[in-house]
Amino acid sequence: MMIFSFTGLRKSTLAGLVAMSFMLPPALADEDDDKEAKGYNDIVSELKMQQGLFNFYRNIESGETMLSLGESQLNRPFIYHAQTMDGVVEVGHFRGNFRQTRLIEFRRNYKQIEVVSWNPRYVFDSENPLSRAAEANRSEALLAVLDIEADDNGRLLVKADPLFKSQALHRITPWANPNQTGPRFSLGTLNSDRSRITRERLYERNMDVVVDYVFINEDPVAFGSVAAADPRFITISLQHSFIEMPDNDYRPRRDDPRVGYFTQQFNQMTNPEWTPWGDVINRWDLVKKDPEAELSEPVQPIVWWIENTTPYAWRNTIRQGVEDWNIAFEAAGFKNAIVVKEQPDDAEWDAGDVNYNVLRWTSSPRPPFGGYGPSLANPKTGEIISSNIMLEFVFMSNRWTLGELFSGGANLLADQHSDEHELYCSLGHKLQMGHIAARLASDTRMYDNIEDDPILSQALRHLIMHEVGHTLGLNHNMRSHGLWNNEEVHNAGLTQGVLSGSVMDYNPVNIAPVGVEQGDYYSYKPGPYDLWAIEYGYSSPLADPEAEQLRLESILSRSHQPELAFGNDADDMRAAGRHIDPRVMIGAMSSDPIAYAQDRWQRVNVEFSQLLEKGRVDGESHQRVLTTANMLFGQYAGQANVVSRFIGGVYVDRSFVSQHDDVKPFQPVPRETQRQAMAALNSYVFAPDTLVDMQPVLAYMHAQRRGFNHRGNNEDPRVHRMILNMQRNVLDHILHEQVLQRMSDTELYGNTYSLTEMLTDLTKGIFGGELTSLSQNLQLEYVNRLIAISGLEDDTDYDHLSQAAAVGQLRSIRSQSAPRRSADHVRHHYNYLHLLIDRAFAV
Ligand SMILES: [Zn+2]
Repeated sequence: MMIFSFTGLRKSTLAGLVAMSFMLPPALADEDDDKEAKGYNDIVSELKMQQGLFNFYRNIESGETMLSLGESQLNRPFIYHAQTMDGVVEVGHFRGNFRQTRLIEFRRNYKQIEVVSWNPRYVFDSENPLSRAAEANRSEALLAVLDIEADDNGRLLVKADPLFKSQALHRITPWANPNQTGPRFSLGTLNSDRSRITRERLYERNMDVVVDYVFINEDPVAFGSVAAADPRFITISLQHSFIEMPDNDYRPRRDDPRVGYFTQQFNQMTNPEWTPWGDVINRWDLVKKDPEAELSEPVQPIVWWIENTTPYAWRNTIRQGVEDWNIAFEAAGFKNAIVVKEQPDDAEWDAGDVNYNVLRWTSSPRPPFGGYGPSLANPKTGEIISSNIMLEFVFMSNRWTLGELFSGGANLLADQHSDEHELYCSLGHKLQMGHIAARLASDTRMYDNIEDDPILSQALRHLIMHEVGHTLGLNHNMRSHGLWNNEEVHNAGLTQGVLSGSVMDYNPVNIAPVGVEQGDYYSYKPGPYDLWAIEYGYSSPLADPEAEQLRLESILSRSHQPELAFGNDADDMRAAGRHIDPRVMIGAMSSDPIAYAQDRWQRVNVEFSQLLEKGRVDGESHQRVLTTANMLFGQYAGQANVVSRFIGGVYVDRSFVSQHDDVKPFQPVPRETQRQAMAALNSYVFAPDTLVDMQPVLAYMHAQRRGFNHRGNNEDPRVHRMILNMQRNVLDHILHEQVLQRMSDTELYGNTYSLTEMLTDLTKGIFGGELTSLSQNLQLEYVNRLIAISGLEDDTDYDHLSQAAAVGQLRSIRSQSAPRRSADHVRHHYNYLHLLIDRAFAV
């Protein structure tokens, strides 16, 4: 067994630092101070000074700024953090965007200060002679060189403008994207003359400097949204924070693959183990006031401030969402670990201040998310120092966020492979779509008082809990939705606000099946996984490292319990063909997601059949019908993806050897489950009458005109494309080269649903039933895909077995023909299919 020792890690981290200092330029502080000492006071006497971590000087006439730092501040790292204060979403900047945390060090080189960043990842044991080679093949970043303007006995004065009014510390311009096609909104060039340092906050242990960067692009090609007043001149406001390395007895906690925390990763370069990693989790430094007590308040609670921009009516619900995390902390031994306060309207601090954790509200022209919960952690220890949560008003409204997606009748579903916002938590968007659908299904109006409105209050509490969970260090857990079976999950008496093992999942809105009483809509209390994860991350350590190791191991050894199931974004199957365990999936619910999906499909069909009655309002346009129809369609299509993932899937178990009986990391999905998934898709997604209840609504799916907005985009619902795109998304997965290959691979270790059997079932589904225009469309899509897989016409990336299997299906389809005395369109369809297949075979 591998034994981690954190005292050891910290020692070696320090050793890395010591090794580092060998290559530092020799300090020259004593050589020629006399000449410059005089200048120092002359210079600063004309400037306004603010004292703090560094001293910050400003010429109140010219606005020019200077910084002074003490000699003791040289050659040791500060935590540097960049955060967007305001920006335009087109270039990836938005208010509250935590962009970068790294170590930055100031070093003296003769008459200059070097501003250097380096990566603490590579750790050497100082006892090992290899540590002398710690610098081999690593590059530091020399970000800037500043002239020393004056030196007062080791107090060094430099100009701050060149450091802050350039992109030296942080690159603001987006990096080039090699996959970008077409014109892209471009910031152009930074104009340092027009840029200005607008605000500085000096504290004893940290300094924030806010800079408005002005970019000029005289010849913009893409104009961006109307949120930018003029695309030639864009201002991005960015805050640079320098934070003194905390000097406390914080004990890092090691990371483990079985529980999902954000981490700082360290490679132990002199450790011969199989996994020579010293990764630590990001977490707050919570220490019991009374170390002996089972339950104690922390010395320093985590304090959350509700920003004074938050609508009053929502504050109680928000407070509840934050405070409910205390349920998990109590299980880990802490009382009142999290405290919520409201920022006074006349507060002298602002929400960007890294000394405050703030729940912020904005209503942006192009909301990049519904909620976002970043945190700033010490790169050397994982100790979380500051965090924010950004919430968008849109989450609470019916407003179109994904305008292009929905006004086009969800036509763009097929193009949803983009990873654009994947870095950010997109839960808010998904919740919003869900609660609009739930609103319709529940027949309830929006209440004036959110606390009386179960859909909205549960959704908001869920969102807040989820985002706060991120700021506590927690990853997503897209595998926690299997907590209840498909009946239990709708029983509010049982679930009591816990629908899922974790609030860190992306659950669909939990709408009851037809004929079943509505239960909880969303998870709004921490689930068993959350309690366990908080116990792992925050429970108080034992002093003895080996005893502590055993204590942590005993918590982790429960990871195989079903209610503690975990899988994050690196496991989830949201993208076609990516990842393997269908239990790790967004939008899935219950321990039987296939049955849950069928309930949802039936419910959506019923809602479509009632939509004209419920959705049309006298004296109003049909915008509501259109919006709701698209949301319902989105619910339907989302479940199709969930179900598809079971075909060719493999269950993954990350338990360690002997943790429980029969630990086997890979287990192919049972044959019966794969066949159930295929049968469900054949009945609800590939059937000739798929979404037939939507058809009466089509003539009413009309967007309200606004100016010339629809010019160039035809207004009519393109229903064949909508449905085919949903089907394509499913085929993208089950016919993905990796899925087909895996079906053959897994046959060698337990899969009994063979590649040929799967394709035969699929062909039967797609070619079963009467021929409608929808099934014609799908059959042609399928045949074209089989031809592409076969490699008969063009080169293919599919493996040999998949190619042969595809040809087998094509032959069987070729043997079918239009029944005698068929209508013309049926004969034309079969003739065309035959032509396609014959052409492929003839090549
Ligand atoms: Zn999230």
